[in-house]
Amino acid sequence: MPDDVLIIGGGLAGLAAGVALAEGGCRVRLLEQKPYLGGRARSFRDTATGSVIDNGQHLFMGCYHSTLKFLEAIGTSQTVTFDPQLRVRFLDVDGKLSELRCPSFPAPWHLLAGVCLSDSFTFGEKMDVLRMGRALRAANKAGPSLEQLTVEEWLSELGQRESLRRNFWDLLCIAAMNEDPQITSASLFRRVLRLALFNSPLDSRLGVPRAGLSDCYTDAAARAIADRGGSVELQRDVRALLVSNGECHGVKLADGTAIEARTVLSAVPWHVLPMLLPGEAVNSEPIFSRILGLHPAPIISVYLWFDRPVTDLEFVGLRGTTIQWLFNKGKILGTGENYISLVLSGAHEHVARSKEDLLDTAVQELRSLLPGMGGARLTHSLVIKERFATFSPCVGVDSLRPPAVTPVRGLYLAGDWTDTGLPATIEGAVQSGYFAAEAILHSN
Ligand SMILES: Cc1cc2nc3c(=O)[nH]c(=O)nc-3n(C[C@H](O)[C@H](O)[C@H](O)COP(=O)(O)OP(=O)(O)OC[C@H]3O[C@@H](n4cnc5c(N)ncnc54)[C@H](O)[C@@H]3O)c2cc1C
Repeated sequence: MPDDVLIIGGGLAGLAAGVALAEGGCRVRLLEQKPYLGGRARSFRDTATGSVIDNGQHLFMGCYHSTLKFLEAIGTSQTVTFDPQLRVRFLDVDGKLSELRCPSFPAPWHLLAGVCLSDSFTFGEKMDVLRMGRALRAANKAGPSLEQLTVEEWLSELGQRESLRRNFWDLLCIAAMNEDPQITSASLFRRVLRLALFNSPLDSRLGVPRAGLSDCYTDAAARAIADRGGSVELQRDVRALLVSNGECHGVKLADGTAIEARTVLSAVPWHVLPMLLPGEAVNSEPIFSRILGLHPAPIISVYLWFDRPVTDLEFVGLRGTTIQWLFNKGKILGTGENYISLVLSGAHEHVARSKEDLLDTAVQELRSLLPGMGGARLTHSLVIKERFATFSPCVGVDSLRPPAVTPVRGLYLAGDWTDTGLPATIEGAVQSGYFAAEAILHSN
């Protein structure tokens, strides 16, 4: 086990790895480019309203076991609360509200019973979900052919009718995978469905952060590293990994400083790593050159402040609209502000639109979804486009994702995009950090 480990990147992956390594007895030095930690899962204060804003609303799931372990380890698990069972409400464009609430039966009966009891599905759609449950349980038999299929092809092969796909599976796919079912990998989606919906009622629960995302983990993780003799340094812009004779021996910063280290863990996003590696390593090592085949999938978040409450719902899936989820932030954070956030995932075709245009669409759609909001006046708004929110989990993506251990001695990788078997999620990021930490702790 190495004494000192240099980590690049202070997102969930880098911080989870840092805490695990520090707990394992390593002295951790973590370098983060930005003046803040958290990467793609962070929060900040809106200057106009003072409200706490996440760079995009995040949902947790009961199946995020590594994440829950991480939050326990740093003492912040109370910042995320879970419903006792899976409970999701859907609001249709005509204003109809329906619900999927799953009783605490053993899996998969919790989901199947929830669907059967729900007013969100027609009789035929309920039968389709039952068929899907059977197919998922027999999924091992489905085997490798699934690797070639998109979610849309797979769902239609399983006889899932159009209305159910549009109003349920597509919504789940876009929410969980951040990608259009027409290009999303069926095998990755199947894995997610099995873990999240068909494993256990506890794993299926949704969790909501009750504080700004950064407050859920960044300071506490940095403290856990510092308490064990490590350091977390902000505004440290790593420009190159120093590699010679097949071995990584440190990094070079933008100001020219070289930092020597025998063990380096890169926890930067996939579109950054190739720029830090020597060109010859990218060209000669397939695990690095394949990274260039990953593509981004954007998420757009629209934040709206009104002069009065517009809904009592805490969060709700939206159907028949461009925007897909509504989160009542004032209620979730317990601040009483009339502030909501709207999410548009897999937003390829919208990301080039102007913020004004996106805002108009969001407000118009909201008014048709919530006719009761009447003359509520919009007092403030914010639109955030995360163009590189996640990698696109398209067919074949698993073969592009590198493992934690690389052919360059002393260089390890973490990040939601590495080979975790999960889509780009909080859980994928934390797991990747743990995988890398484990590999480092067991190295000579
Ligand atoms: C809008 C949005 C909504 C999302 N919603 C959900 C959700 O509901 N549920 C869910 O599970 N997941 C969600 N995700 C995904 C989740 O946020 C990510 O999977 C996770 O945060 C990725 O963490 P990471 O540590 O792998 O990468 P990052 O968070 O990208 O961290 C990488 C870090 O490296 C730093 N860095 C980059 N280059 C350098 C450099 N040269 N030198 C030093 N540091 C560098 C970056 O500044 C960053 O801090 C969402 C993501 C977005 C963007």
